[in-house]
Amino acid sequence: MAILKIRKWGDPILKTRAAEITEVTEEIRRLAADLLDTMRSESGVGLAANQTGVGIRLFVAEVLKENGPAETYALVNPRLVFQSKQKETKEEGCLSFPGIYGKVERALDVEIEGKDLDGHSIRLRGHGLLARAFQHEMDHLDGIVFIERMGMAQRLLLKKTLAELASETRSRMKKASLKSG
Ligand code: ZN
Repeated sequence: MAILKIRKWGDPILKTRAAEITEVTEEIRRLAADLLDTMRSESGVGLAANQTGVGIRLFVAEVLKENGPAETYALVNPRLVFQSKQKETKEEGCLSFPGIYGKVERALDVEIEGKDLDGHSIRLRGHGLLARAFQHEMDHLDGIVFIERMGMAQRLLLKKTLAELASETRSRMKKASLKSG
């Protein structure tokens, strides 16, 4: 198990649609375990594989319960099959956008289908925070980030901070490629 490096806003992989997984292999299971470790180390509720530089359709999510064990999920090739008309607007954050939060409207209830880490088809239901996490992570796999789900006013407020983060990420990537090249 390992803590992976999380790609930040400005990295083009966050705007790239992730590829379908053809077979759930040991490598995929290992990556899912690493994604969980990484997500927990950052106190996140979800993490998509492409946020760690691996452009495949896999995400993990975990919601802590007040009483009882945490609900932990790892989904391969997830598809949204139901989205409630009832919406909820709440503040949201993203591990690829450290320190940046904004209000995002999401469906209150969703159902998703996909494969579990044994390659079996599953259908999951999410409500509230879990539904929000599912929608946020599935967006990541399509190359959509949460700021694109915010209202115009909210995005305008964050414009400068986002530009700074993107330019910081790009200069860090440039330095890394100079080092390796
Ligand atoms: Zn995110």
